[in-house]
Amino acid sequence: MNSFHFAAGHLRYLLIFDSKGAEPAASLRNSLINEGAEFKELYAGSGRDLKWISEEISSQKNGTCLYAALETGLLEKLETAAVCAGYLPEEIQFIPSGSRRRIFCAHCHHISITDCENPPVQCSSCGRYLKVSGSRSGYWQAYLAVDREAF
Ligand SMILES: [Zn+2]
Repeated sequence: MNSFHFAAGHLRYLLIFDSKGAEPAASLRNSLINEGAEFKELYAGSGRDLKWISEEISSQKNGTCLYAALETGLLEKLETAAVCAGYLPEEIQFIPSGSRRRIFCAHCHHISITDCENPPVQCSSCGRYLKVSGSRSGYWQAYLAVDREAF
């Protein structure tokens, strides 16, 4: 599982996570406490939907840094909500909490959503069987994946 990068210098921090995102959330919480940062955390358990999260993030004051470790589908919607609420890209860090990932096919540039716990991962556009790398593109909001035969 990836971990959050603590970005110092923000006025306050908002941490949103679900049960599968508890691990990166705990490590970030330690950093926030060690740094004496002002922060609020929201547990997005069952029954907590996008509307609730959107209201929470838009009610935060400017200068808040947003961290979220949630299921991939929810993160995508949350990103739109965060941008609408006025968050800058450098104020947002997301980690997909489950095994579902957005993957960017290096061969046809198609983005698929796949379950990395159930290989093989197949590109839904060109049909290649892919190996998912650990490098994630912030621009594409996806993990780079290349033909597994290339390894
Ligand atoms: Zn492809």
